[in-house]
Amino acid sequence: MVDMSRRVHLPIVDGQAVPVAAAAPVASAATAAVADGTPRRRHPPWIRVPMPTKPTFFEIKNRVHELKLNTVCASASCPNIGECWSRRALTIMILGDICTRSCRFCDVTTGRPLPPDPDEPRRVAEMLAELELEHTVITCVDRDDLPDFGGAHWAETIRRVKAASPRMTLEVLVGDFKGRTDHADLVLDATPDVFAHNLETVPRLSRQVRVQASYPRSYALLEHARRRDAITKTGLMLGLGERPDEVSEVIRELAGLGVDILTLGQYLAPSRTHLAVERYVPPAEFDAWKAYALEAGITHVEAGPLVRSSYHADGQAALVRALRTSKGLAPVSG
Ligand code: SF4
Repeated sequence: MVDMSRRVHLPIVDGQAVPVAAAAPVASAATAAVADGTPRRRHPPWIRVPMPTKPTFFEIKNRVHELKLNTVCASASCPNIGECWSRRALTIMILGDICTRSCRFCDVTTGRPLPPDPDEPRRVAEMLAELELEHTVITCVDRDDLPDFGGAHWAETIRRVKAASPRMTLEVLVGDFKGRTDHADLVLDATPDVFAHNLETVPRLSRQVRVQASYPRSYALLEHARRRDAITKTGLMLGLGERPDEVSEVIRELAGLGVDILTLGQYLAPSRTHLAVERYVPPAEFDAWKAYALEAGITHVEAGPLVRSSYHADGQAALVRALRTSKGLAPVSG
């Protein structure tokens, strides 16, 4: 068991208090030996995932299957799938279910994907219109095999979804387009309401975590989206070995850039072949990071052990509308 009696310190970095758990990395506390002698991690008590039981969960599951869609919820083994799908919140993943990259934190299959399905945008739009959501997130696998990295397929999907659900706000969580802003512009030109791209971790760990990506390239993509006046969002996983001064520096940079929404969540290894969890970050530390990021100037922050980039995003329609108004962007219909 993790010693919950240990307090959270707030050391001073650049004149500001930043959170860091007093506990040493909790690997030993959260590691149990199994019969073959291989250490196996146990999650701490604050990471509990209920089994899905509500009928809505199974209705969503059936409809996703009928429409031959993919979701990052299922493909990436997201721990929140029971909770999210039970309230009709899901994150559809376009461009197939095979990714050309091999990020070491991610459970999506790596390989050679099939060509994009030209009918997929229609089915995505149909599914989302049926759900009558106020806000949704769509993401994709990385498609480094395509000349535009999937940009045109993205644009068609956004157009179809907006036509079918004009009152819904739409967030797109995209890859890095290998730094090609002309391909990212295909997405931005289709005017999603939120443009999200995850940094995932601090610069020092970026190559180790996202083998074929780079922190500067991802940062430059967010910078480009900001220059295009998009509402921007990014996310970091904690528990990969990052230091508090590294996290605080990233947060301050993001605030300086004008990123609107930040998510901070605990990294959980999907399997033993993925990167190991270096540390379980206690809930109080997430709260402290949230306060730090808000204080730094980021408008909206979701932080917590089970927070993922799309977690609770379904409740962010009002926020997105308010951000659009504050930036003088065209209002969403309805
Ligand atoms: S947090 Fe996001 S990816 Fe996970 S189940 Fe919820 S909507 Fe899906």
